[in-house]
Order: sequence, then structure tokens, then C-alpha cells
Amino acid sequence: MKNTIKKIIFILIILCFLCFLVTCKSTEKQYNVLYQVSTINALMYGLYDGVISFGQLKAKGNFGIGTSHALNGEMILLDGIAYRIEADGKVYNIDDSEKTPFAIVTEFKSQKTIDINSLFNLDKMQNFLNTLFISKNYFYAIRIDGIFKQVKVRSVPAQSKPYPALSKVVKKQSVFTSGNVSGTLVGFWFPAYISGVNVPGYHFHFISNDRKFGGHVLELETGQVKINIGVIRHFKMLLPENNEFLNIDLTPNMDREIRSVERGR
Ligand code: ZN
Repeated sequence: MKNTIKKIIFILIILCFLCFLVTCKSTEKQYNVLYQVSTINALMYGLYDGVISFGQLKAKGNFGIGTSHALNGEMILLDGIAYRIEADGKVYNIDDSEKTPFAIVTEFKSQKTIDINSLFNLDKMQNFLNTLFISKNYFYAIRIDGIFKQVKVRSVPAQSKPYPALSKVVKKQSVFTSGNVSGTLVGFWFPAYISGVNVPGYHFHFISNDRKFGGHVLELETGQVKINIGVIRHFKMLLPENNEFLNIDLTPNMDREIRSVERGR
């Protein structure tokens, strides 16, 4: 009799565990899972050595942004293809064997789609996006396709060792502007509590449909665009294992410097 009760309890525990696994899987299926390489503060301090290959990164998602080894340009991953916009303003395909020191990617799933046909500058567009979020405590992946009246982007040149801090590199950024351009914004929004790990607020990269123009977005004006928003409820992060990362002090708060780097001023 005792043995039968033990068996029943054992089977119940196994069933509960299986239910838990199925629940985890179903929320991963419904929501976006963010995969991040390194931290924004590590990048701010000049940790530009590649951590994993783009082949490995693309196994974690088909949509994202970041940079490539030695801080060579701005990276955008769209529909499973990784592009690099270099400091010469040209767009290059990134080989799977190349490495990234910092990237965020997800297998993009949209929970909300909205068509707009208004003239929004970057600030106004971001204010509008704020109204679409179900909570300020989740992360969001944002895809915006369409026609843009104007897009102003920047890129940064590849660095050599000893690597300078990101705030110094950005002072030598190249800035490019395009008008009436069709393309896609790939971006993310993070709450303030992500500070140190990623960029609080919005971070967008752009690529044109003809794959000839793009970069880290500084300013824009929207035309007729389609907004897709993916809610992120899962977060996986890979930290580098090189000596620089093992020994760097990532304690200081760098929010002010990050804001100035992101705005390119
Ligand atoms: Zn960027």
C-alpha cells in the first residue's frame, strides 16, 4: 500500500514537472526571446573583440542589431541576413565566420501591427510607440517597414588595439542622410532597470530596401509605415570569457555617456 502511494506521488511530481516545461515552451513560442552578447558597459569601455561568430548568433534569432569585431561598423540582422554598414556608408554582407563583440537578437514575433501615415520625427515616433506598450516593465523588439521622408544615420570605423572607449570613437563617426527612402527600422526598447546591461529606452538601426544605405539612427521622419511590436519576456545573455572582460570593473554608472553615444552628440 505504502509503495503504491509512493508511486502515485512520484508520477504526480513527474507530471507537474512536464506541465512546467510545456508552460515554459508555450510562453517562449508566443513571446520573443532576447539573446544578448556581452553588455553595453563592456562595449563603452572598449571591449571590441568578437565573442561569438555570426553563424552562432543567427542560430539565436533572425532580427537584431549590434556591431562586428573591432567595432567595425553598425550591424543589422534582418530576415536572417546580417549586414554591416561601414564608416564609408556602404552596406556589406557579414560572413558567418566573422565575430561580434556586442549584439542583441531575437526570432521576431509580432504581437501588434499598426499602419501609420503621419509625419513623425524620431521623438514623436518614440512617444507614439510608448502608447503601444502593454507594460513599461517588459522589453520590446520593434520592426518598422515603409517609406521614410528622411533618415539620418551614423557608422563608426574599425578600431585597432589598444581600443579607445566608445565615447571617443563616436567623435569620429561618419553621418549620412537619405530622403524618401524605403526600408526597415530594426530596434529595441528597454526599461531603465536594464541600465549597464543594455541601452535604456530606444535603439534603432536602419537599412534601405535596396540594401545600399543604413546605419545607427540619429534622426528620422516617417512617411507611410507599418509598425510591428514584439513583446520580450525571455532574456538570455552570453558574457565574454577573454581576460579584458574577466578583469574590467563594470561597476560605474555610464548612463549619461551611453545617452550621448546613442544620440551621436
Ligand atoms: Zn546602434
